[in-house]
Amino acid sequence: MKYPNSYYNHSLDPHIDHPSLEAVVEADVCIIGGGLAGLTCALELAINGHKVVVLEAYKMAWGASGRNGGIVFPGFAQGQDYLEQKLGLTAAKNLFDLSLEGVDIVRQNIQQYNLQSAAKTSGILSVIRYNDAANMQQYCQNMQVKYGYQLDYIDQHNMSNYTATDKYYQANMDKQAFHFHPLNYCLAIAQQIIKHGGQMFEQSKVINMSLGGAEKTIITSHGRVKAKHVVLCGGGYSGQVFGKLQKSILPVATYVITTQKLGALAQQLIKTSAAIIDDRRAADYYRLIDDDRILWGGRITAKTAEPQKLAQLMQADMCHIYPELAQAKIEFAWSGLMAYARHRMPYIGKFNSKTPSHNVWVCSAFGGHGMNTAPLGGRLIAEAIADGSTRYQIFNNFKLQWNGGVFGPMAAQTTYLGMKIADWYKETSSRNK
Ligand SMILES: Cc1cc2nc3c(=O)[nH]c(=O)nc-3n(C[C@H](O)[C@H](O)[C@H](O)COP(=O)(O)OP(=O)(O)OC[C@H]3O[C@@H](n4cnc5c(N)ncnc54)[C@H](O)[C@@H]3O)c2cc1C
Repeated sequence: MKYPNSYYNHSLDPHIDHPSLEAVVEADVCIIGGGLAGLTCALELAINGHKVVVLEAYKMAWGASGRNGGIVFPGFAQGQDYLEQKLGLTAAKNLFDLSLEGVDIVRQNIQQYNLQSAAKTSGILSVIRYNDAANMQQYCQNMQVKYGYQLDYIDQHNMSNYTATDKYYQANMDKQAFHFHPLNYCLAIAQQIIKHGGQMFEQSKVINMSLGGAEKTIITSHGRVKAKHVVLCGGGYSGQVFGKLQKSILPVATYVITTQKLGALAQQLIKTSAAIIDDRRAADYYRLIDDDRILWGGRITAKTAEPQKLAQLMQADMCHIYPELAQAKIEFAWSGLMAYARHRMPYIGKFNSKTPSHNVWVCSAFGGHGMNTAPLGGRLIAEAIADGSTRYQIFNNFKLQWNGGVFGPMAAQTTYLGMKIADWYKETSSRNK
């Protein structure tokens, strides 16, 4: 299976194809899933001298990691308010700091390995589509006081310096966050894993596993891996072979389009090189790429099949903010699956299957916030395996939760519709004030 027909695939750097697993291979650690979680875990282990094997069902970063919006910013899919309420401010701050470490992992790898084709552009502008200056200012202040994190408040008067739409009221600018080309980044990380002695196999879907004993056996159609540790990193694509983990994940689909080159119009509409994201639960986010194309992402659905007329649906969302783009040609439209836990926090830690299975680790469920949290998860599991670090244990607060079976996706879709209605109400009532 090839990469989806996306902008990223069409702007891909030369890269290595990896073989499929055709033999019995022994390793210290077998990582299942070649997304950002699995790749980061593999790189950090390989650097530490561990014999690591990555098994990817299709191509490295074929899943969410190679098709996402490319926005790297601190935090989790779940908000800090929830974390403060559940765990108290100290633990919420510890989690926030870890999420920042996730941002730094990506930033440092780009620098250290001189990844030109994944070069980052600084800045995330978070906008609101309703009038609430006081809350936005308070939010920026809270982030500074409670978390020591700087966000610059932007009032309504100054919004026109950033965008040509009148749909937004206030915003904050996060200058430390950035956006980049996620597929080029992941493939460069895969290359580094090879350089550090790791083994990578593509078109090698895991179809069975024996996890009970000290030596685990991981089986693909044409080969097997025998390893002391196994790390489960299948994300939203985790199938039946992941057992209880699959039943604890809601795969949620989300979508991206990119426009043709728009010339001067692109920067007349989007006047900032920062990515823009709104605060709705089903957020729109977008950014300039190649200076004059727009990459636009948004919508979520529990239906994993790609909708018909995806490009038109997404273009309609874009034109709601920028009607000037009605005639813009959409060059690529694609979808991807994110893995959500019901508590919207990642699963990072020991895999507590009913059969006691030591040295089986889970690193998944990063939701729509995986560009920092998946690398963080990869690092925490790598250091737990390498030197017994217990830093991952803060995530023991977020255990595997049943996804609701057949009712899970229905509940998710209903919740999503409810959230959309709540967003609509908030915006409409603010305009009528
Ligand atoms: C369209 C889209 C836009 C997004 N935008 C952003 C964004 O801008 N910022 C942000 O922070 N997050 C974003 N996200 C979320 C982010 O991309 C994910 O949270 C993150 O990439 C998850 O990484 P992962 O490694 O857990 O999973 P994935 O990247 O999905 O990787 C899992 C891999 O496991 C493989 N696999 C599954 N089963 C098997 C098996 N049996 N055997 C072998 N391999 C298997 C799959 O093929 C897949 O390649 C977005 C997601 C999508 C889909």
